[in-house]
Parts: sequence; C-alpha cells; structure tokens
Amino acid sequence: MSDQSVQPQRRRLVGAALAAAGASSFLAGCATEQQAPAVVTRKLGRVLVVGGGYGGATAAKYLKKWGGDAIDVMLVERERAFVSCPLSNLVLGGHRKIEDLTMSYDGLRRAGILTMNDEVLSIDAAKRTVAFQKLATQTFDRIVVAPGIDFNFGAVQGLNADAQKRILHAWKAGPQTVELRRQLEAMPDGGVFAITIPEAPYRCPPGPYERASVVAGYLKANKPRSKVLILDANQDVTSKGPLFKRVWNEQYKGILEYRAQHKVTAVDAKAGVIKFDVQEDVKAQVLNVLPPMRAGAIAVQTGLNNLGSNRWCGVNYLNFESTVAKDVHVLGDSIQIAPAMPKSGHMANSHGKVAAAAIVAELSGWPINPAPMLTNTCYSFIDPKMAIHVASVHEYVAAEKTFKTVAGSGGVSTGPTELEGVYALSWASNIWADSLS
Ligand SMILES: Cc1cc2nc3c(=O)[nH]c(=O)nc-3n(C[C@H](O)[C@H](O)[C@H](O)COP(=O)(O)OP(=O)(O)OC[C@H]3O[C@@H](n4cnc5c(N)ncnc54)[C@H](O)[C@@H]3O)c2cc1C
Repeated sequence: MSDQSVQPQRRRLVGAALAAAGASSFLAGCATEQQAPAVVTRKLGRVLVVGGGYGGATAAKYLKKWGGDAIDVMLVERERAFVSCPLSNLVLGGHRKIEDLTMSYDGLRRAGILTMNDEVLSIDAAKRTVAFQKLATQTFDRIVVAPGIDFNFGAVQGLNADAQKRILHAWKAGPQTVELRRQLEAMPDGGVFAITIPEAPYRCPPGPYERASVVAGYLKANKPRSKVLILDANQDVTSKGPLFKRVWNEQYKGILEYRAQHKVTAVDAKAGVIKFDVQEDVKAQVLNVLPPMRAGAIAVQTGLNNLGSNRWCGVNYLNFESTVAKDVHVLGDSIQIAPAMPKSGHMANSHGKVAAAAIVAELSGWPINPAPMLTNTCYSFIDPKMAIHVASVHEYVAAEKTFKTVAGSGGVSTGPTELEGVYALSWASNIWADSLS
C-alpha cells in the first residue's frame, strides 16, 4: 500500500463556515470559496453522495474515514436534519417526541465531509454532473445514490394530492409522523385505526406490525373501546409472524385484528373508506395507507430502476455499482434486494460500508473485497417498553453473484422482554453514532 499513500492536503479556506463544513475541491467554482492547496499530492477523486439517510450518511462517513484527504466527499441532503424512522412508531404511541429522533449533520461536517442542505434535481451519469436546486452544478468521479423510497400513489384510486393531506403514510419520519399522532389523539374512543400494508418488498418488513402493536397499546390504555385493523396485501405477516401473532393474541385480543390478502385498490378520503381487491370495504376514523413503494425519485429519474418491474435499482453486490450506469453506486432501500435482504436502516448502513470500502479500493487501484458480509437486526416494540428482534448475517456468494444468509446465523426472539426494549434503544443510539459521527 505504500505507493498509494497520500500526504494530507493542506488548504486555506477563506470562508470559516465552509471550513467547518469540510469544504474541498467541491464548490471550487463557487464565489464563496478560494482555496490554495499548499501541497498538492495525490488526489484519488471526488465522491458525491445523494441522500443523508441511513445508507448515504454511512457511506459518506466511511468514504472520508477510509479515503482521508485523498478523497473529497460531498453529501447532499434535502432535509435540514436527519430524522430516524426507527423508533418513530413510538412517537405514534406517545412515548417519544419527533425531536428525540432528530439529529444534525454536524458530526459529518466535523469529520471533513462537505455536507450541504439542498435537493439534487438531476444526475447526468454520462457527463458525471449533478444539478441542484440551490448549488452550482458539480462534477464527480463517483456518485453514491441513496435516496430511500418513494410511493406509487397512482396505484390507489382516489389517493390524490388532496386525499394525501388526510390519509397519511407516515413512512418517512417527520411531519407526517407528528400529524398521524395528532389524528390518533383526536380519534374518539370507539374509533378504528386502519393500517394497510403493500405487497413486499417494502421499507421495513416488520415496521407496520410494530406500528399496529404500539398503537394498540396506546388505545388499550387510553381509548379501550377502539380497534386496530391491519389490512395486509401479503399472504401472511411478512416478518416475525409467530411472535407478533402471539403478542396480538395475548396482549391485544379484542383490540387488534389482522386480515391477510387485502390489497388496497381505492380510498374515499371524505367517507373514510378503503376498498380492496376482495369484496370488503373498511370504514375507519384514522386511515394509515402505505402505498406500494419504489426507489427514490431521483434514482428513477436517472434511469437506475431497471429491476422489479422498474421499481428498484439493480446493483453489483460487490461494490453496489448500478448495473446500468458506470461509477454510479446505489444503496439502501432503493436497490433490488438479494434473497432475504430486508429494506432496513441497519441493512442500508451495512451497504454504505461495503460500498465505501469498494469505492476507496477502486479509486486507489486496489482489488476490492471479493467476499463482503452484511448484517441486520430489526427490533420491534410491541408496547412502550417491550421489544422483539430478528437478526441475520448475509455473505456474498460469488457463484451466484448475490448475498445469501449464512446458515445458522441470526434468529428471532423467544418472546418480548423489557431487556430487548433496552437493547432496541441501545441499537438506535449506536447506529445513529455510527452513521452520523
Ligand atoms: C416506521 C418505520 C420503522 C422502522 N424501523 C426500523 C428499525 O427498527 N430498524 C431498521 O433497521 N430499519 C427500520 N426502518 C427502515 C429504515 O428507516 C429504512 O430502511 C432506512 O431509512 C433506509 O435508508 P436509506 O438511506 O435507503 O433511506 P433514507 O434513510 O430514507 O434516506 C434517504 C435520504 O435521501 C434524501 N433524498 C432523497 N432524494 C433526495 C434528493 N433528490 N436530493 C437530496 N436528498 C434526497 C431524503 O431526504 C432522505 O433523507 C423503519 C422504517 C419505518 C418507516
């Protein structure tokens, strides 16, 4: 590795704010920055990361950690702060505030990553340029596209822009989470909370069942004549099925009802009615419809969504490079998953590390790791204190060019415990620290 070693590059940055933001050769054309490298040694390249969620933030952090001054890293996120979806169901139960799940990007700035609050409007993969809403156009050597998911609202008749103001998904933590909590608080005792689940794959397989359980806990304690209805397009509960069913039977009998094979076809927002592919209309006071999901809009707009009926982005699992665009890496919820790979924050964090290591290696001219591993743990709260988990380890199988779960790895809880609730909170603190600082 000695011939690849790089001396730290010293810079004089006129703008103190940009220095704090880790400004680098990115923005070199901007009037706000003047830079004069005192020692120009070997630069390996500039990597632009789109999306500062679990995947993108982690990739940016590890690109900088492992690439050092040789790689300029710029992270662009349209929101001002990171808001965690994991634990956001606790906001619906009234056990956390959204502020508890909201974190700044200052840790990444301190680590030397140029972290900008802006929206990426377009990516030209051939010309290696990115256009933003506010910033000047930037060039890149590699780009990491990690925009999470977006929704196919058109698949649900009647779920137009107006209806979306009342019928929320709250599947991106933030204002919708807070508003859904407000709807639950306003719901009269005796009301019905209906949550619909799209066909897999969707973001966070156990998330809807966790949500239903936590909401049932809130209603049991505060509005005991109310009901939770889970209307699932899938054949059966898609994650931790026996555990969730046991909890529902033991803890929420008479409050929570699960109905499989109910695929939403239409909603009537004014009447509070959901229609399905089976002959059964459901009327509810609070409707929480999770529409079918697909890769984040910017990935689709860039034409990276080549798989899964054009919903997801195909990647080479060794380096997360798009299978349709060279030097464009896609990770997190936007990708076409390997068998048994969940769309989760933990998994996106794992993708971020594998992709970062591969990009640093490739820019350095080193071979990439031919056998990467990924891990995943998903905790689900079933009430304010108790949680259950599912865990897995995934290895790259070269012969099949995919990840597969390692036989005998991981597993599920034997049952909900308060200790697992403590572990779940620790898991969250640890992954936030790993991704954001
Ligand atoms: C209720 C709920 C509970 C969950 N619980 C868990 C859990 O317990 N454990 C777990 O591991 N996972 C959990 N998840 C899943 C987890 O949140 C996602 O899998 C994870 O966020 C995916 O990471 P990502 O980086 O792909 O996307 P995200 O984290 O959504 O990040 C994408 C980012 O890209 C930004 N962005 C998109 N487009 C642009 C653009 N054009 N310009 C600039 N920025 C852009 C977005 O603003 C966003 O910040 C849960 C999800 C939900 C909804």
